[in-house]
Amino acid sequence: MKAIRVGRTGGPEVLEFVDVPDPVPGPGEALVRQTAIGINYIDVYVRTGLYKRPLPFIDGREGAGVVEAVGEGVTDVKPGDRVAYAATPNLGGYAEKNAVPARELVLVPDGVDDRVACALMLQGMTAHYLAYDTFPLHAGHVALVHAAAGGVGSLLVQLAKARGATVVATVGTEDKAARARGYGADHVIVYAEQDFAEATRALLGDHAVDVAYDSVGKDTWERSLSLLRSRGMLVVYGNASGPVPPVEPQKLAAGGSLFFTRPTIVDYIKTREDLLRRASDLFAAVREGKLHARIGATYPLADAAQAHRDLEARKTTGKLLLIP
Ligand code: NDP
Repeated sequence: MKAIRVGRTGGPEVLEFVDVPDPVPGPGEALVRQTAIGINYIDVYVRTGLYKRPLPFIDGREGAGVVEAVGEGVTDVKPGDRVAYAATPNLGGYAEKNAVPARELVLVPDGVDDRVACALMLQGMTAHYLAYDTFPLHAGHVALVHAAAGGVGSLLVQLAKARGATVVATVGTEDKAARARGYGADHVIVYAEQDFAEATRALLGDHAVDVAYDSVGKDTWERSLSLLRSRGMLVVYGNASGPVPPVEPQKLAAGGSLFFTRPTIVDYIKTREDLLRRASDLFAAVREGKLHARIGATYPLADAAQAHRDLEARKTTGKLLLIP
C-alpha cells in the first residue's frame, strides 16, 4: 500500500510517499481501509521531533473508512462496518490502510459521511472534552478561544455557544474572522493586527474571562492568563507557536488563585464509555444540524507535505483531510 513515512524528523520534506507492506491486524486490532485521513497539528509536532517517536514511523493518528479484516478476539466491530478513530497512539494514519485497536474504533452512523466523521474524531472530541469536562461551560461564562477558525477552534466556538457561554474568539486574518462569526462567536479579534488582551479588556473590562482555551502557547499564554477573573482557568491545550515555558506557581496566586491545566485528549477518552459518549454526542449534534464540521481542504495522500506547509503557514481553516 501507499503511505507517508518519516525516516528522520524535520521539515515537511521528511514526509515521504512510499510503498510499504499492508499492515496485518494483530490480536484485538481491526484493519481499516481508509477513505479519509485526518491531519492534525500534533502530526507536525511528531514530524519535527517536538514530540518524540521511534523512527521510522508513519505519521497521522486519525481516520475513517471500512473494516476490512479483524484480528483475534475482536468483537466490537466486523468486516464491512463503517468506522472512525482518533488519537491512536500507534500512529500509522497517513496510509491507505491502518491496523487500529478495535477498542478505539467508533461506528459511524447513517447520515454522517466519512469525511465529517473523520473531522469529528480528534478535533471534535477535543472541543467536546474542553467545553464539557476540563472547564464545564454554562450560561454566564466568558470563554476566550484562540485560533477560532481552525480545526479544534471552529468546533469549540460552536460547542461553547451551545453551552450558553459568551465567546471571545481570536483569529489571524479578516477571512478567518468572518468564519468565527459564522460559528457564533460574540466578539472576534484579529490578533495578528491587534493586541488581543487589550482588545478583550476594551470589550469586556479587566479580568472578565472565566476560561482561556489557548492552543497557541508561547506567543499568547501570558496574556491569556492576564485576562482571567479570580479563580479562572487557563487551559493550554496546544503549542502552535511553540511550547509554554515553566510557569512560576506564585504567578497563579498573584493573578487571583488561578488554575492552570495542560490537558491531553488521551486522558479524556481513556475508557470505551468516554470515547463512545463523546462520539455519540458529536454525531447527534451534526445530524441535528447543531454542529457544523467544515472540511477546509482535501489533499491527495501523496501531497501530505504540502498540507503540512499550508497548516504551519496558517493558511488553512477547518479540517484538513488526506484522501488515499
Ligand atoms: P488548526 O487548524 O487550529 O491550525 C493551527 C492554527 O493555529 C493556525 O491555523 C493558526 O490560526 C494558529 N496559530 C497561531 N500561531 C501559530 C503559529 N505560530 N504557527 C502556526 N499556527 C499558528 O490545528 P488543529 O485544530 O489541528 O489544532 C489546534 C491546536 O489544538 C494545536 O495547538 C493542537 O496541538 C491542539 N490540540 C490539542 C489536543 C489536546 O488534546 N491537547 C488535541 C487536538 C489538538 P490563526 O491564523 O487564526 O492564528
